[in-house]
Amino acid sequence: MRVAALIIAIDGPAAAGKGTLARRLAAHFGLPYLDTGLLYRAVARRVLDHGGDPADQQAAARAAAALTAEDLTRDDLRTDDVDRAASVVAGQAPVRAALLAFQRHFAASQGAVLDGRDIGTVVLPEAPVKLFVTAAPAARAERRWRERAAAPEDLARITAELALRDAQDAARAIAPLRPAADAVTLDTTALDPEAAFQAALAIVLAIIGARSPLS
Ligand code: C5P
Repeated sequence: MRVAALIIAIDGPAAAGKGTLARRLAAHFGLPYLDTGLLYRAVARRVLDHGGDPADQQAAARAAAALTAEDLTRDDLRTDDVDRAASVVAGQAPVRAALLAFQRHFAASQGAVLDGRDIGTVVLPEAPVKLFVTAAPAARAERRWRERAAAPEDLARITAELALRDAQDAARAIAPLRPAADAVTLDTTALDPEAAFQAALAIVLAIIGARSPLS
């Protein structure tokens, strides 16, 4: 199913299932997909690779300005150190400013599905469909623990780090993690990926059907 220039903005805390859902919605509607978390992860990776401190605003801004498409395809962006550093660089205005135009441009021509923390509130506030995907902290921590194939004793640490990162993302002054006023919240705590997709699809179809601005 291809829907002309449809933009679906998906926000929510870490490990809520946003990425899986966004990918499925993009495939279903024939839209490009952008995982915006990768941008912040790639900036963080660059800073760490250069031996820099993610809290150093100049180093982070330099890394954001130098970002290339190849940086986004690296296979070392989903590690514990990058989790922490990405949330730190993401709190800095120059980094966010450097990444904003790229995200907007990505959605401009053919529509897109984007997931992140501020897509519905800052990046694409005019998106017709906004989902805020969340899940109970324990469920999200367990998902992340499984994804990382971590040892049993790592669950407590992963739970604590997830809580810290979400608190940091929600408390920052610029583009904090929060649902847009017109976002529909989808709680995936009790949903497997297929059930989450079906629930999200029903929400999207209800919104685009009700507004029918598309051909
Ligand atoms: O989504 P993911 O966990 O990969 O994002 C990594 C970090 O990037 C988040 O913890 C958050 O600090 C930041 N981020 C953001 N805005 C976005 C996407 C991600 O601040 N739109």
